[in-house]
Amino acid sequence: MAAVSASETRRVYVDFDDVLCATARGFLVILEREFGKTVRFEDMIDFDLGRSFDLPPEKLRRFFELVHEDEALDGFEPLEGALETLSAWKAAGLEIEVVTGRPPDTRKASEAWLARHGVLYDELIFVEKYGHAPGGVPLDRVLGRDYAWVIEDSHAMAEQLAEAGQRVHLLDRPWNRSQFAGGADVVRCADWKEVRGSVPL
Ligand SMILES: [Mg+2]
Repeated sequence: MAAVSASETRRVYVDFDDVLCATARGFLVILEREFGKTVRFEDMIDFDLGRSFDLPPEKLRRFFELVHEDEALDGFEPLEGALETLSAWKAAGLEIEVVTGRPPDTRKASEAWLARHGVLYDELIFVEKYGHAPGGVPLDRVLGRDYAWVIEDSHAMAEQLAEAGQRVHLLDRPWNRSQFAGGADVVRCADWKEVRGSVPL
């Protein structure tokens, strides 16, 4: 694998949920256990979980509390190919920024997860991606940062990042298929194997 030259940007943006770990599948388990609702992964066609799960606002609030508890976060499985790819990128001299829209008070549990799974990264940044993680870094600061490329699963984030001039790789998910307007600066990848094959490294 070729090393990245010193003149190029060496920093990579990697989202956490449904990019490093199988968050949505973990959500479905919690939804069934706590609310008695069965929803198939393929039917999660809206990033808005209130719609995807047909939960009223009060239950949705409770759901978000439950899924952000340490035990829930701890139980999410790493996605196939993610950890090996980050290791390869680190070996090639890249810096990895894990950029998440999780509430900042999940930092300890999130860092514990990354450590437990041996994820190689440089920084974990909490960003106000969706306007519901107060206390995080303002979104603008991330949009304007100099990244070699970005890995996301949120169509809204992908579009904003692409508009800001970032090179975006969007992991294909049921919730980003119908809502995504597309664009030349966004590469849709089925999985990490495709991500690894499509970045300029
Ligand atoms: Mg995500």
